[in-house]
Amino acid sequence: MKPVSVASAFRRKILLAALVVGLGASCNRSQPAAPRSEPKPSILLITLDTTRADAIGPEAAGVETPAFNAIAARGRRFRQAYATVPETLPSHLSMLSGLYPGGHGVHENARYVPASLPLAAERLQQAGYRTSAVVSSFVLSRRFGLARGFDTYDDQLPGGRNERSARETTDVAIAELARPLGAEAARFLWVHYYDAHTPYVPPEPYRTRYASKPYLGEVAAMDEQLGRLVQAFERQAKDPVAIAIVADHGEGLGDHGESQHGDLVYQSTMHVPLVLMGPGVDAGVSDTPVSTRRVFHTLMDWAGVDAVHSLRSPATGQEEVVLGEAMKPFLEYGWQPQVMAASGRYKAILAGKVETYDLTADPAEQHDLANSAALPPGMRKALEDYPVPSPDVARAPDNLDADARRRLASLGYIGSSATPIVRKDAPRPAAMMPLLATLEQASGLFAAGQFAQAIPLLETVLAADPFNLDAALRLATAHSTLGHEQKALDGFQRAAAIAPKSQDVRTYLALHYARTKEWERAVPLLEQVLTESPDRMTAVEALASLRARQGQQAMDGGRTAEAIPAFERARALQPEAFKNDLELGVLYLAARRFADAKTALDRALTARPGDPMTLFKRAQVSVLLNEPDKLERIDAARKKADGTTRPLIERERLFQR
Ligand SMILES: [Zn+2]
Repeated sequence: MKPVSVASAFRRKILLAALVVGLGASCNRSQPAAPRSEPKPSILLITLDTTRADAIGPEAAGVETPAFNAIAARGRRFRQAYATVPETLPSHLSMLSGLYPGGHGVHENARYVPASLPLAAERLQQAGYRTSAVVSSFVLSRRFGLARGFDTYDDQLPGGRNERSARETTDVAIAELARPLGAEAARFLWVHYYDAHTPYVPPEPYRTRYASKPYLGEVAAMDEQLGRLVQAFERQAKDPVAIAIVADHGEGLGDHGESQHGDLVYQSTMHVPLVLMGPGVDAGVSDTPVSTRRVFHTLMDWAGVDAVHSLRSPATGQEEVVLGEAMKPFLEYGWQPQVMAASGRYKAILAGKVETYDLTADPAEQHDLANSAALPPGMRKALEDYPVPSPDVARAPDNLDADARRRLASLGYIGSSATPIVRKDAPRPAAMMPLLATLEQASGLFAAGQFAQAIPLLETVLAADPFNLDAALRLATAHSTLGHEQKALDGFQRAAAIAPKSQDVRTYLALHYARTKEWERAVPLLEQVLTESPDRMTAVEALASLRARQGQQAMDGGRTAEAIPAFERARALQPEAFKNDLELGVLYLAARRFADAKTALDRALTARPGDPMTLFKRAQVSVLLNEPDKLERIDAARKKADGTTRPLIERERLFQR
């Protein structure tokens, strides 16, 4: 679907190009480059997942964070720092690329970092740094593409878990610090802590101490480990030392009806802590709004690569319109795209209409000034110019395997692959929070396979939000899985009416036909999807398994000529997952295509080396091809024979001589 006109699509392309070269047009570009005589500092970047600006630091109420406060006292604390997006992967990508999501193109978790995008670690590696990362959540696993440029990227989570504690992560980071540098000039270490993310279960003594506010208990426990890490870094890394501590986003905790993060752009999730300490950073406090994407530029500045947009003094005094976005509700549910802008004391949010807040007078954003005339010039334009992703291109290939999906779901990231349509009357996300809670509950049940329990919740969502494609598809699929054939078909029809060209509707409808064994309907749908998006993993898997089943049925029916191409098509789609090499070998043998039979049976033997039937069939082929080791193969088949193959071997005339 093409919701944008050609002209506006072209305009967006230009905007996108502008974002790629750096959106901060209002930043001062005339700062001098770092003097060459300055020694390269050892750099420690600590990212705090899900940590609100008001939950850490000297001004935080109800929580003690002495380690963070100590660094803040020695460095510069930015009291108005903003995340670029309230989700882990895209926000980290902004800090490591210097770009807003509109520039780097990743708007949600479980997407891929574009391979062409230059990342901080690559630049630092080129500048002579030893680059290491230790991350604490599957969401930042190397498979999503952030590991590029790191000499070591530790994403190993103990015992198959989806996250690890700050203590475990700090142990790994300290072990990394103990490894001596080689020829590298200095060290760049990025450590990511995930503790403050749900569920809030702080370790003791914090669990008891913060029994009534476990979220703050997590932050306090994390702070203790942050102190350990900073101490080890300052002891072991070469002087001078530069440290940046920043959160990727905050947490709703009920503000504006949002419990966690990712769906709204209010201060609770966008306003984050940021502290810089190191060469060229004047100690103190800054009240200028800044974007955390400039962490990237500051790292480059410290390393002597490039000083543009750096937050080191005196650049900290520079004004810019700070932007941010939350596109997940738009991309997943078809609600309004959301963009925020902050400048001076004002903040504005564009989501269908513009809300404006005076953050000095109203830090909780309770009183919409409803009059953007008060906004500083350029702010409204910055909001309107921010590129809204076109759902057609913004969605990365759907190529997560089942295990990856399960693990993301268990972390609360249940992204379907739904492609929404853009509607002029789309609801504002801020008005949809009660419904979102229901949808998230339904999605959780869906991910856990509790389809019958999910259905009434999905019906509630659709009654209130009839164009929600995600809910419509889940409802249809839930009915299909439970064998409610007519309700499933009605559901898919409804989903197709919402998004007539959606690949997801076709894929999930095809899966429904596969469940009802209507191959002649399922196969063409999947082929159509794969013609348009060949790397769509759900469709590839489904089509491969359908082809294999077709092959098996043809074989069982004695239709060899039909069975061979069906199996070969299944194998071509998913070579690693193909499980029918023995069948294929038997079919080729029957068709007297001995060389093909040999190849297929050798693959089968690699997968299952001692399998009696495969050994027997391979020995037959060996005799027919007159291979030099045919006698050894007959011996091997005899030695491993079982109740099925023993009589076959005894009667086999090929083996008689
Ligand atoms: Zn996060």
